[in-house]
Amino acid sequence: MKIKFYGVRGSYPRAEARFLKYGGNTSCIIVKNDKSTIIFDAGTGLLKAGESLLKEKNIFMFITHTHYDHMQGFPFFSPFFRKETNTNIYGPSIKDKSFQDIIDMYMNPFFLPFSVADFENRKFSIKSLEKDDEKININGIIIKGKKIQSHPLFGVYIFSYESNNQKIVYATDVDVSKEMNNGFLDFIDGADILIIDSYFSEQKLSNLRKSNGYENYGHSTFESVLKIKDLANIKKLFFYHYNPKYDDKYLERLEKRYQKEGVFFSKECEEVIV
Ligand SMILES: [Zn+2]
Ligand SMILES: [Zn+2]
Repeated sequence: MKIKFYGVRGSYPRAEARFLKYGGNTSCIIVKNDKSTIIFDAGTGLLKAGESLLKEKNIFMFITHTHYDHMQGFPFFSPFFRKETNTNIYGPSIKDKSFQDIIDMYMNPFFLPFSVADFENRKFSIKSLEKDDEKININGIIIKGKKIQSHPLFGVYIFSYESNNQKIVYATDVDVSKEMNNGFLDFIDGADILIIDSYFSEQKLSNLRKSNGYENYGHSTFESVLKIKDLANIKKLFFYHYNPKYDDKYLERLEKRYQKEGVFFSKECEEVIV
């Protein structure tokens, strides 16, 4: 199977040249094997992903949570406007709102001149994830979702993708320092690939805390993520969902330091063969 990063940035996109080595688009990855194409998150990275999927018959999409940086590409995903494509989308329900309700609110006429009704897929389904632990079988690939509460305000799903004795975990927008005792480590344990929120460096976060009491909004630091690598027997760890203020120069410095620890920095348009 193959993983491709289409958006690795958190919070909001950056288009300036000094962000483009690691990438300026927000959260989106695709995991593909010979039978299925599965997208995780629909940030601005989804736009480019869509252009590469115009011949795809069946597309599955999992949304971790509906913050803009995970949804901004959604209305403009080119395959939605092709009759030949079948699309199945899974995302969180929140309180009494189904995921369909939330999408309808997101694609509201005050913000967009078109709605889900304008998508042209012959088959198009939006399903709610409702339980804390979800399990979905897609052509023999097992997708598990686990609800994590530490990301404000309504939590986030982390997902694992298991096929042919390989396990990939996509865990963005989590604060690992708050997830040590709730089954999080068991969920990610033994992953061949872990793609995980690494939004702050400890030093920059502590400067922010000192200057204005800033909190981390349910994100992790590079340092705290590194600590779980061995604790959870992770084979290959990818930092992901970078702070949009961290430019290439700063991330290059961090990458040099963390290469020694055997950790990888996700980069837009890079592929990983598993
Ligand atoms: Zn985010
Ligand atoms: Zn978020």
